[in-house]
Amino acid sequence: MAQPMSPPAKVILKPRKAMPFFNRHPWVFAGGIARVEPEPKLGDVVDLFAHDGEFIARGLYNPTSQIRVRLFAWNDQTDLDRGFWSSRIDRAIALRKRLFPDAGNESAYRVVYSEADGLSGLIVDRYGETLCLQLTSAALATRKEMLAELLKEKLEPTGIWLRTEKGIRESEGLTLADGLLAGEPPPRPLFIEENGLRFGVDVTEGQKTGLYLDQRDNRAAVAQYVAGHRVLDLFCYCGAFGVAALKLGGAREVLGVDVSAPALALARENAALNGVDDRFRFEKAKAFEALEKLLEAGERFDTVILDPPKMTRHRAGLRQALRGYFSLNRMAVEALKPDGLLVTCSCSGLVSKKDFESMLSTVSVRTNRSIQILEARGSAADHPRSVHCPETDYLKCYICRVGS
Ligand code: SAH
Repeated sequence: MAQPMSPPAKVILKPRKAMPFFNRHPWVFAGGIARVEPEPKLGDVVDLFAHDGEFIARGLYNPTSQIRVRLFAWNDQTDLDRGFWSSRIDRAIALRKRLFPDAGNESAYRVVYSEADGLSGLIVDRYGETLCLQLTSAALATRKEMLAELLKEKLEPTGIWLRTEKGIRESEGLTLADGLLAGEPPPRPLFIEENGLRFGVDVTEGQKTGLYLDQRDNRAAVAQYVAGHRVLDLFCYCGAFGVAALKLGGAREVLGVDVSAPALALARENAALNGVDDRFRFEKAKAFEALEKLLEAGERFDTVILDPPKMTRHRAGLRQALRGYFSLNRMAVEALKPDGLLVTCSCSGLVSKKDFESMLSTVSVRTNRSIQILEARGSAADHPRSVHCPETDYLKCYICRVGS
């Protein structure tokens, strides 16, 4: 029989700190908390109260993280028990069934996207028959076996692989080793299908959880514009934009640049897998240096794709990040032929659309080239955005026409 549960500890906010949580933002930072009664352990259920004693929401506690409480339910009747996690996961799965009704054993998409699925701290990506589980919350990590069991029951994968980002270990005090949670380890590479193309993905060692799934629709969108183009795919990783440009879009040739040797090895294999290796060349280099060299040599392209890694994780780094985006985009514009296509992305959540567009405006002025935004895109629908948590809206992908 289950032990009778003691009531959740109370987390009481400082005066005038409650508004974001009445508005259902799920992150309670340590700085907003007045006191906690009694002190909970990592992963304990807690109730959040305004300074005047009004109940706000229920969540999980982490004594180490700056995000001291992650909120999951806005009433005090909901137990955060197995049934609760199970029904939240069901809701997330139901959306993906709608988005991918014809999913087969090589489909790849995000099954659970953290705050955007009411599951702050849990990311689950599906790669064919393997699931990759990423925990960004140490509180939720105390329930990882249960979460893995639920996923096993519902999705019947051949294996569940656990990965943790380095930064998260520090910020959450999370000391999890990557490894197998259930079933068999993923094959290396594991083959998946995207937009009718095939890609080899490395779930265990590759970047992110293996593939940048959030860019799926953007890769297909860019392909629409590039027939006959000479394309520069900077930060190409496993070659996904370039392969789509060649095979779906009929681009003439692509030069892929990345600083990572394993990424380029994967990209070469993916080009061959899709029969476009004769038109996809690669260079291992830092993007800025490669661009400088190309500009000096007078090389010009019909399309430049810029998909750099996150430039800042902290507000303090915002100015420098914007300077980085400016330099990169300025050089990319200079490398474009008249009426060329600039595909410019940013996955830095702290860089707003407004900041990014104003950066593009400065690039246009400084280079004296017109820039028209043809499409301002975000992440694919399996990475939904929560209206309560703007941080889930991180990806920007602008498709622009650059004049003479
Ligand atoms: N466009 C890719 C994802 C790019 S992720 C896709 O759609 O799959 C960012 C890539 O930039 C990574 O592969 C990383 O290895 C690479 N990278 C990081 N710093 C770099 C630099 N200074 N120069 C070139 N590539 C870099």
